[in-house]
Amino acid sequence: MVDELFEVFEDLFERRGKKKKNKDRAEAPVEAKAPPAPPVFCMDCGARNEGSQRFCQECGKLLPSAGEEMRCPRCSTVVPLTAKFCGRCGSPVA
Ligand SMILES: [Zn+2]
Ligand SMILES: [Zn+2]
Repeated sequence: MVDELFEVFEDLFERRGKKKKNKDRAEAPVEAKAPPAPPVFCMDCGARNEGSQRFCQECGKLLPSAGEEMRCPRCSTVVPLTAKFCGRCGSPVA
């Protein structure tokens, strides 16, 4: 009976948004279809961090900015870090 209650609570929690089920299961980072920001793995400890994070949640090291953006030096348009040229004015941004 108590277990049932627990399950209900867990269910509620999960529906609240962020799933916090970090059990000992095989942690398979399933690639979501369209993640807002791809997860970033710490170069130092290998921890998985949200793409929006700048520093590792585990060791505090600066994370490689995979999902980050930069600005075009010419027109200040925000372009992804992977871009070589500005999509707006064509300036090289690398
Ligand atoms: Zn780390
Ligand atoms: Zn530009």
